[in-house]
Formats: sequence, structure tokens, C-alpha cells
Amino acid sequence: MRKPFIAGNWKMFKTVAEARDFAEEFKKIYVKNDVRVAICVPYTQIAAMAEAFFDTGVEIGAQNMHFEDEGAYTGEISAKMLKELGVKYCIIGHSERRNYFGETDETVNKKLHKAFAEGINPIMCVGESLSERDCGKAFDVVKRQLVTGLAGLTEEQAAKLVVAYEPIWAIGTGRTASAEQADEMCGFIRDVIEEIFGDAAACAVVIQYGGSVKPENAGEIMNMPEIDGALVGGASLKPQDFIKIVNF
Ligand code: 13P
Repeated sequence: MRKPFIAGNWKMFKTVAEARDFAEEFKKIYVKNDVRVAICVPYTQIAAMAEAFFDTGVEIGAQNMHFEDEGAYTGEISAKMLKELGVKYCIIGHSERRNYFGETDETVNKKLHKAFAEGINPIMCVGESLSERDCGKAFDVVKRQLVTGLAGLTEEQAAKLVVAYEPIWAIGTGRTASAEQADEMCGFIRDVIEEIFGDAAACAVVIQYGGSVKPENAGEIMNMPEIDGALVGGASLKPQDFIKIVNF
């Protein structure tokens, strides 16, 4: 049985002081239950948040990493550096990284290999743009992202994977994919994983939906059979809203 997994993605929001305030407020109202919870914070907040959430059941994630161990890569951060600070998860291939920072299916693939090698659990993002959906290419695009992105991983690695389906047109727009649309694509993602890695990996892989998830729609989304979790942007910045989603 797959455990529900709610992850926040803070993107480029909050100073360390603001993050500490969030942690204080969140911990007052959070009761650990059967839902896996992580918050993926900017690099500067990782150390403070790992300390603030130590032993609470809330894990800390990063939002990106480099695929090399070290080297002359100004401004980059390695998986080892993240691991040292207590990072358990790393978002890889978010559409904002693909669109604004030149991330490709090939770099996603290298990063996934490195994350697994370093014991960081990747949350791999896939999803189509509005024009790709409108011209009927959504499923082809997501399949391509998966086939290239996951190339060379083992069945055991695939079984530990978290995939977040985030249609670009639903991110930060207030326009959520319908629960049925999201479920259909998450089911398709599971089928592609089955084709590549087999039945056991397809059963184990955790598939999240992301894109304008709010306290008001989290229950409906989480009730869909193929959706195991949510990757939450804007609504994860407010402790009261995020807790409602965690307790969907
Ligand atoms: P919003 O929840 O703000 O739409 O962001 C979704 C997202 O990109 C999470 O990674």
C-alpha cells in the first residue's frame, strides 16, 4: 500500500527568519499521522529547517541539485552538500527549471542517477504546457519526459521514485486540472513505469499531482485512485493552509 505523500515547494520564497516563524507555527498545529510530509525549501533555509523539524516526522527537501560531485560549476550545489545538511528529498526537473534554466530530459536523467547514488529521494517533475495539451500532445510529452528522464535506472530505484505530474498550465494560475484529468495522467504515468520497469515498480512508485492544490481541493484530488500525493506551491507557504492539505 502506498503511503500518501504531501510535499511543499517553497520556490524562491522566505528568508531564514520567515522560515523559522513558519516552523514554529506549523509545529504547534501538526500532529504526525499516516501521511508522509516534506517541505522543499531554498538552499539558504535548509540547515535551519532541518534543525527546526528534526524528529517531527516532517522531512526537508531541496528544489534542485547538480549531477556532478564537485567541480567548477559556479552557483551550483551537489547532492553530497545537501545530504550533509539532512536533506531527504530533492525536486528534479521542475517545469520552472526546465523553462527558465535550461533543464532538459537529459540533465534530469543525470540528476536522478546522482540523487539515487547519494541516497537522496528524487521527486521527478513531469507535465505538459497548455499548447501541448490543446493540440493533443500531453501524453506524448509526458511519456518522452519519463522515457528519457528515467533511462538506465534500475527497477529498485524506480520503485523508490516519486513522480509529480504538474501540468504547466495549472501552476500558480489558480486553474487546477480536474481531478479526473489529473488522475488520468497519473494512471498513464504508472502504465509507462510498468512498461519500462515492470509491475512491482509501477505498484510502488508514488505519483503526486501538483498545480494550484489548495485546502479546498486537496481532498478531492487525494481521493483519486491513481494519485498518491500532492506537490504544493503557493499554499505550502502558509502553515494553516499547508496543514489543511496535509490533513486532507
Ligand atoms: P502552485 O501550487 O503554486 O500552483 O505550484 C505548484 C508547483 O509548481 C509545485 O511544485
